[in-house]
Amino acid sequence: MKPYHSTRSNSNTIDASQAILNGLAYDGGLYVCPLNEKVNLKEMLSYSYQKKAETIFKLFLNDFNEEEIQKCIQNAYTGTFDVEMITPLVPVGDDAVLELFHGPTSAFKDVALQILPHFMQTAKKKQNIEQDIVILTATSGDTGKAAMEGFADVEGCKIFVYYPANGVSEVQKRQMQTQKGKNVGVVGVEGNFDDCQRTVKEIFMSEKSSNEVMYSSANSINIGRLIPQIVYYFEAYGQMLEKGMIQIDEPVNFSVPTGNFGNILAGYIAKQLGLPIAKLICASNENHVLTEFIQTGVYDANREFKKTNSPSMDILISSNLERLLYYMCQDCEQVADYMNQLSRNKTYEVSEAMKSSIQEIFYSGMCNEQETCEMIKACYEKYDYLMDTHTAVAYKVTQDFKNQKMNSYKTIVLSTASPYKFSEAVLESLCNHSSENEFERMKQLHEITGVKIPEKLAELSSLQPIHTNIVKIDEMKEYVKRKLGE
Ligand SMILES: *Cc1c(COP(=O)(O)O)cnc(C)c1O
Repeated sequence: MKPYHSTRSNSNTIDASQAILNGLAYDGGLYVCPLNEKVNLKEMLSYSYQKKAETIFKLFLNDFNEEEIQKCIQNAYTGTFDVEMITPLVPVGDDAVLELFHGPTSAFKDVALQILPHFMQTAKKKQNIEQDIVILTATSGDTGKAAMEGFADVEGCKIFVYYPANGVSEVQKRQMQTQKGKNVGVVGVEGNFDDCQRTVKEIFMSEKSSNEVMYSSANSINIGRLIPQIVYYFEAYGQMLEKGMIQIDEPVNFSVPTGNFGNILAGYIAKQLGLPIAKLICASNENHVLTEFIQTGVYDANREFKKTNSPSMDILISSNLERLLYYMCQDCEQVADYMNQLSRNKTYEVSEAMKSSIQEIFYSGMCNEQETCEMIKACYEKYDYLMDTHTAVAYKVTQDFKNQKMNSYKTIVLSTASPYKFSEAVLESLCNHSSENEFERMKQLHEITGVKIPEKLAELSSLQPIHTNIVKIDEMKEYVKRKLGE
């Protein structure tokens, strides 16, 4: 039986490999599969990260065999993260922080983007696709670098990344411009992120896939990005247990800095698979569409977009929420109706029943820029723990959750980036002064806190930029064609 179908229609079902290659369903929906299996928790918790990953992947990658799954895991998680356990848990006060940023680009997206290329390569073989897969990605900073790092030198795949030439940080720009690999290309665009995103979609539509290439995408609507994120929820629970912070079967809360709802949805899936999760805490910055949605049942994207100091969560249309809606009602027509309303009016309201079932599982809250900085400082002073701005948003909402005495279980805060990726805001939070140069700021932050700078970020200032081209918006298409001709 083929398990995957669109959130908006279940008349056509496909295998995991096809879903990974397609990315988005033909009707604009996202791929979903039934969640009716449970893992054996005790057994699962005794496994290594890699073996936990294997157990999860076997449940979701229905047409991958054991050997293929093991090979993907080995390629993705051997020697690529700077700690052996991949996602280490650090106790902070009564609770804990799960550090998801130990991969090559120092953001949590590495956990999924280190393995997605291997899933794709395997999927391509299974579906007898002979053309090269060409990944086009528009990025506002983190995704582009993590995707290139994952796809660099992966056989049969090419990746091209567009970033707004004046819209990313120095560190992010340098990370992308120094990317190695013979199958990668990255270019700055004279426009903003929306221009990049819109034009990439236009290129997809006008070029279609041909005999020579098949276009695909690496953004977070792909099930190949969602599935790897389920693993670290189990890993976190296992590490809590090992540290004696909880007893087996004791419920915990997870607090997640949320943008596109991918990370926290993986937590929802972990709960369905039997992980004892009490509440999933959905934390937003000032773009708090989700806070409002979870509290009122009304999703309303008619509001001003705000640029904040947690930029990876600056988002108004949270794509993966569509999957939650499906799981809450299991009714494709209903989901399609909500999504039509969203695209027509930028708003929809879910039924009272749906709202209450969402509230049973999710708590939501927001944190503004000033509170973010205060949290970084307070946490550093009280617990000697340095966190980035995104993590601080989740930490702040966790404090609200606890102050409201929602429950008395332990909470695990997911940390999505190294503080050195956002040194400007982090440094300002601690000491109110900062240098003009981002690499100087990293050094200052290190001098003050003694926290180690991730090696790959430290070496950036001495690397020679390779990809320094800038194109106009209407030259973006020509850029891919030229690169493909090379
Ligand atoms: C992408 C990102 C997020 C948001 O994750 P979603 O899965 O989109 O909710 C949070 N923090 C950082 C640092 C990110 O890069």
